[in-house]
Amino acid sequence: MIDSHCHLDVARFDDDRDQVLSRAWAAGVTGLVIPAIGPDSWRALFDWPRRDRRVQFGLGIHPQLLPALDPADDERHLATLDAMLAEGVAIAVGECGLDGPSEAGAPMERQVRVFRAHVALARKHHVPLLVHCLRAHPHLQRVLKDEPPITDGLLMHSYSGSHELTPFYLAKGCHFSFAGPVSFVEARRPLEALRSVPDERLLAETDAPDQAPHPHRGTRNEPAHLPLIIDAMAAARGTSSEAMRALTTRNARAFFARASF
Ligand SMILES: [Zn+2]
Repeated sequence: MIDSHCHLDVARFDDDRDQVLSRAWAAGVTGLVIPAIGPDSWRALFDWPRRDRRVQFGLGIHPQLLPALDPADDERHLATLDAMLAEGVAIAVGECGLDGPSEAGAPMERQVRVFRAHVALARKHHVPLLVHCLRAHPHLQRVLKDEPPITDGLLMHSYSGSHELTPFYLAKGCHFSFAGPVSFVEARRPLEALRSVPDERLLAETDAPDQAPHPHRGTRNEPAHLPLIIDAMAAARGTSSEAMRALTTRNARAFFARASF
């Protein structure tokens, strides 16, 4: 199994990162992708695949981090991002995207500008985009309507849009990954969305340390919980866990064309 989105580089894993990784491998995870959150974390990520090629990373600025970054530095950060992507080690651009709840600290106009710059960099460096979109779907749709077709892939991570929106994103060539909410007892909307995605566009993720699946809900999430999410995805789509493991692994390997997992 491949965890297509987990933030193993954040401070919440400082005390036991090696054990967390050991548990992931023991649980059957064979590869994972760490999407960077912001400029301060980029350089340290280069060591991960060097130490263990099962661990790959993306580089980007998370929209929820923008309120903490001075807008006057945006261009400088994006130039650094361009230079680091040129090193050819990162396998994706992201995490990036649009976040409705962060609008108060980072106006949507700025979020869109920074996101469009990420799209351009992914195009330039021929890597896929890892996209966060929370309560900002009309804005994201507007951007994707303007953009030329995205040919290196766009993953809607922890997809939280409705099933009515999936045809639009599918037509734009997007893939979708799902996290813990598909396992929640009251899950309805995420399951409808999950069922609306064709097999070949489906990936799985933990989004650790957030969104722990049932029965770990509310605790720190980790990649070793990925089988619980894949089991819930399988149940919702009326297939076996084995088939869902094989499908999401195959899709992740194809999507992350540059990854060596
Ligand atoms: Zn994330």
